[in-house]
Amino acid sequence: MSNSSEDCIFCKIVKKEIPSKIIFENDDCIAFNDIKPASPTHILVIPKKHYKNLIEVNDKELLGNLLLTAKEVALKHGLTDGFRTVINTGDNGGQTVYHIHVHVLGGRFHKWPPG
Ligand code: 5GP
Ligand code: ZN
Repeated sequence: MSNSSEDCIFCKIVKKEIPSKIIFENDDCIAFNDIKPASPTHILVIPKKHYKNLIEVNDKELLGNLLLTAKEVALKHGLTDGFRTVINTGDNGGQTVYHIHVHVLGGRFHKWPPG
């Protein structure tokens, strides 16, 4: 598994080769604002290491860190009334960027089931 993929947009965000609104960063993950927010708050949390999607990841620590970071970022942004976390996987899951990411959506009510 390579640490980054040459043509991956999120790897470029990790390397600061393309700009983004980074709101959290540690050794393992970064969180930044989605370029096309679907909710008043729409944050993406990603591992710095490149993995295509959930199917490719079996690292429990990495997955745990990702989810805990998503929660911390949500609470730091005041989403104490709740928030939606989403991981789209593969074409049928609606994944468009193939670097695993957790969406954190908040600031409005999110109905269920999604589209
Ligand atoms: P997916 O559809 O793969 O679950 O989600 C990909 C998300 O990445 C989308 O919500 C899309 O708006 C966001 N996105 C795509 N390109 C960029 C970019 O260059 N910068 C940022 N900040 N978000 C992006
Ligand atoms: Zn990547």
